[in-house]
Order: sequence, then C-alpha cells, then structure tokens
Amino acid sequence: MVDHRLSEEYEALRESVQTFARKEVAPVIGEYYEREEFPYPLVEAMGRMGLFGLPIPEEYGGMGGDYFALCLALEELARVDSSVAITLEAGVSLGIMPIYRFGTDEQRRTWLPRLARGEVLGAFGLTEPGGGSDAGATRTTAVLDGDEWVINGSKAFITNSGTDITGFVTVTAVTGQRPDGSKEISAIIVPAGTPGFTVAKKYSKVGWSASDTHELSFDNCRVPAANLLGERGRGYAQFLATLTEGRVAIAALGVGLAQGCVDECLRYVGEREAFGRTIGEYQAIQFKLADMELRAHTARLAYYDAASRMLRGEPYKKEAAIAKLVSSNAAMDNARDATQIFGGYGFMNETPVGRFYRDAKILEIGEGTSEVQRMLIARELGLRA
Ligand SMILES: Cc1cc2nc3c(=O)[nH]c(=O)nc-3n(C[C@H](O)[C@H](O)[C@H](O)COP(=O)(O)OP(=O)(O)OC[C@H]3O[C@@H](n4cnc5c(N)ncnc54)[C@H](O)[C@@H]3O)c2cc1C
Repeated sequence: MVDHRLSEEYEALRESVQTFARKEVAPVIGEYYEREEFPYPLVEAMGRMGLFGLPIPEEYGGMGGDYFALCLALEELARVDSSVAITLEAGVSLGIMPIYRFGTDEQRRTWLPRLARGEVLGAFGLTEPGGGSDAGATRTTAVLDGDEWVINGSKAFITNSGTDITGFVTVTAVTGQRPDGSKEISAIIVPAGTPGFTVAKKYSKVGWSASDTHELSFDNCRVPAANLLGERGRGYAQFLATLTEGRVAIAALGVGLAQGCVDECLRYVGEREAFGRTIGEYQAIQFKLADMELRAHTARLAYYDAASRMLRGEPYKKEAAIAKLVSSNAAMDNARDATQIFGGYGFMNETPVGRFYRDAKILEIGEGTSEVQRMLIARELGLRA
C-alpha cells in the first residue's frame, strides 16, 4: 500500500523543527554566514532538542527514532538555512552513524551519548586532496606498530573537523594489501588533539559559509590499535554504506532548500510591485513558482521512497542516488529561479535567496557528485563501464 502521510510522531517532530528554524535560526543565521562563523548557540540548541540523537537508540543516549526522522528535521532546517542543516547532517550521517553501525561496544559507549546530545561532533575523513570521487584511491596510510596505528597522509574538505567541540575524525587509510594486490582500507578513529594530527585553517567557501570545513594532515600520528572502527579491512564497505545512507539525508536537505525558495518567493511576489501590479499577478512569475513547487514535491517523493526502502531493510542504492540527483537539481534550479524572482535583491547576501543560491551548488558535489550518482544508477541498471 502506498501512503506518504506522516505519522503523528513524525509530524510533531517536523513542526517542532520548523518552529525552531523559523524562530531561532532565521533571525540570526545571516550574520553568522556573513562572518563565516560557526553558530555554536544554534548547534547547542539542536543538541538540547535531541536532533543529533534522532536515529540513535535510547540506550546510547539517543531519541530512539529513525533515519527518516533525521531527514524530516534536515528538510525543515534547510528550508531556512543550509549551514545549520549540513552541520547536523554531517554530524549524524558522517560523525555518528559509522560509530553506531560499525563501532565496537566500547567505541559506542565512549562516544555515542555525548555525540547524541550534540556536546561533541564527529567528522568523517574520506576525501583526500588528490581526489574524492575515486574514494578507493586513498593514499593515507596506517601502519600497526605494536599496539598503535601510525597514520600519515592528508584529507580535504572535512566537515565539522575543526570546531571547538570536535571530538574526533574517523579517517580511512590503507592498512595493507590484499592477496589480489588491491588496497586493504580500514577506518580509524583519531581523537582531536592527538599529536601529529593537524587541522589547517578553515576554507573560505562559496556557500555553507557558517559550517566548518578544513583540510587535515597526519604526520606520524599515533592512536591506540583499539581505535580501529570495527574490523580491519572493512573501511571501503563501511564508507560505501555510510555514503549511501548519507545521500538520502543530503536529498532531504536539498528538498528543504528547494522548498525554502518557494516559501520566500510566495511571500515576495505578493508584495513586490512592477508596472502597477504585484509581480505575482504575472503568469510568467506564476509558472516559475509552479515549476519550483513541482521540483520540490517530486524530489520529496524521491527521498521518502528511498528512506522507506531503507527502513524496510530493502535494497535502496539506486533510489538513494536518484533522490540525491533529483533533489540537488531541484535545489539548483529553484535557487536560480528564486534569485531571478527577487531581482536585484536576490543578489544581495542579506536575503535568504542569496544564501540559497550560494548554498545550492555544493549539493551537486558533496557526498558523491552528480556524475557519481549517474554512475551508481547505471551500475544498478546492470550497465558496466
Ligand atoms: C563543503 C564541502 C564539504 C565536504 N565534506 C566532506 C566530509 O565531511 N568528508 C569527506 O570525506 N569529504 C567531504 N567533502 C568532499 C566531497 O565529498 C568531494 O568534493 C566530492 O566527493 C568530489 O570529490 P573531488 O572534489 O575530489 O572531485 P573529483 O573526484 O576530482 O571530481 C572532479 C570532477 O570529475 C568528475 N568525475 C570524477 N570521476 C568521474 C568519472 N569516472 N566519470 C565522470 N566524471 C567523473 C566529478 O563528478 C567532478 O565533476 C566535502 C566537500 C565540500 C566542498
């Protein structure tokens, strides 16, 4: 049976995040964005609301919800601002989920309660300066020396990796060679402040300006052997699973941005006048808004579908890639149309649509570029290169 209505619990969560986004995020986020400053008070507030712990069981300090609940929260946040939304998205999907899904019991008990309360952020370092799409080409190495891993290498564009509350970065590294000659890749937890682990100055970005992104380097960085995430040699499979799940979350974030464009424009076209009438009375503007609503709506259905397959335990790789692709296209197209509808004001940083325009592009790049999504969809159709 097909039923896309939200249950009362999902609806209550959606409404409470919407209220938070409109009342607490919207009035202040523009200034953080302009100053390229991480919004600690907002992250703290999201922690108090339990948003970081949404898909984590109560025994680890979470809310006992599921990944779809996280997606709903992300959509409502991104409807107002994407820097705050990506901080939550990366915090959960890249910081928390690998520990929850693949960590040892000890690692879960050490990290999950504080992560779930938003007191500590975890990051995930997969991309390297030499390339992100070809994630198997990892050059960072980790060599076991007695009961310690010695890590050397660098990672690029890592979200939440340099805040005052960053607790660790899980990094992928080559830990050996398999019998067939391919690389053995493992994931290792590196706590913030470990000697030899350096966080470079934050990047100055085109968008997501109030989120935290750094290049990281590891120079004979030693961590206990027990910091291996789950099993040795499982790093590649772990990050593939992490990214598949993350795509659904990023799709929700894109839908939020696309819907936020509709929200802003609906208000504006009823106020702005040109040639003696409000611009909302012109059919050219109405058609733009109809197309924008259509994109947000279809992208939402795509991520609902991927998320429901995920929750039912069915294969959802293709649907996750489709959702991410549809949603990032919707976000880009809506941001462009919204900026056009706002005219000159749309090009000003202080208007939300100005931010939406700058924030939309990364959705076609992060957690797998649009080309990578097409590669995944083609592969799921049985096509081989
Ligand atoms: C703000 C921001 C935050 C990020 N956060 C994180 C994070 O927290 N953790 C993390 O690990 N990474 C993170 N990333 C990295 C991100 O995931 C990568 O940028 C992305 O995967 C693309 O990798 P790349 O930049 O190296 O591009 P490349 O892989 O070098 O790709 C360059 C271009 O070539 C295309 N291309 C590559 N291979 C093919 C092919 N086979 N066929 C056709 N086209 C191809 C790509 O689609 C792209 O258009 C972040 C990036 C940004 C900008």
